[in-house]
Amino acid sequence: MFDTLISGFSWKNITAKINSCTENDVKQALSSRLKKEQTFIALLSPAAKKFLPEMSQQSSLLTCRYFGKTIQLYAPLYISNECEGGCTYCGFSAGRDYKKITLTIEEAVHEARIIRESGIDSILLLTGDSPQKVPFDFIKKIVSAMHEIFSSVSIEMYPMSEEQYRQLLNAGCDGLTIYQETYNKEIYVSVHRFGRKKDYTARLTVPESAARAGMRRINIGALLGLADYRTEIFFLFMHHAFLEKKFWQTSFSVSFPRLQPLIVSPELRPAPDSFLLQAVCAFRLMFPESGITISTRESAEIRDILVKIGVTRISAGSKTSPGAYALGIDAGSQFSVRDERSVSEVVKNLTALGYDPINKDWDKSFT
Ligand code: SF4
Repeated sequence: MFDTLISGFSWKNITAKINSCTENDVKQALSSRLKKEQTFIALLSPAAKKFLPEMSQQSSLLTCRYFGKTIQLYAPLYISNECEGGCTYCGFSAGRDYKKITLTIEEAVHEARIIRESGIDSILLLTGDSPQKVPFDFIKKIVSAMHEIFSSVSIEMYPMSEEQYRQLLNAGCDGLTIYQETYNKEIYVSVHRFGRKKDYTARLTVPESAARAGMRRINIGALLGLADYRTEIFFLFMHHAFLEKKFWQTSFSVSFPRLQPLIVSPELRPAPDSFLLQAVCAFRLMFPESGITISTRESAEIRDILVKIGVTRISAGSKTSPGAYALGIDAGSQFSVRDERSVSEVVKNLTALGYDPINKDWDKSFT
């Protein structure tokens, strides 16, 4: 279990090691590329910033070699914004004053059809953490309904049991997104003030439960800005390396969304653009075959740069509250969208950059 592995590392020591890296350490990391602790540390260090042009070039070549000039597109569909969690950084936090709603299956299908008409064929279904308001059986029905409309259905919802993931898989779900948010246990406990998400270890084990259930793809991530961002990415890399080695049948990818200044927190440690670029390059150099997802939290300008360097999957035309695509409901959003381009504008732009936007990248061999 990854929680056993991670308990052997001291956050403070890793931060100190990252900050004391030399240019020579970075050169050695770039030539060895072993998926080892010391390599991650060097590539994420302040000393590696000087090597960004070289890292970007190598990252871009590797991405092209393993993925071609293709970018997968998806859209999020919020089924509910009701949540019992008290996470300081989230727009759905239980204490906030906003309009709370859960779509009916008919409403969700209506929203889905509008998204499908825009050309999107891969959907990510989201809810808050409220099994009372959004019970598992309801989610299963929603997944089945979406499976009729989209080629790929993923979820980003409250953690479930291995058996429940298996049932969702049978209902047509093929992917799970689950972020640890921060691997720093102390900060984790302080920003997750109440609710089921407060249990650090329970959350850490979710990707393993989903992989054991046979989930085809799992996207893990950390929210940059809660803790030291370099150390955060180090632990994300360790988590990815662990999962990739243990569950070779599952395709793992990563995201590292940045906290927006809009969500005010006195503890905010915002990651600059240059570090976002460095993190994408470092990940690509270490994991050439793994996907990197970036959402519309980032601006169009940054997304266009990252696509050329290592990102392989992006959302497009996103709305981040339930009923916002077609129903005209003005409910609370989880975060603000910075890239507001429509799906057709994103497609046109990717094509102009020389990339093929992909809506569907797989078919089942056996049914
Ligand atoms: S991060 Fe998830 S659990 Fe926390 S408040 Fe937001 S929706 Fe709820």
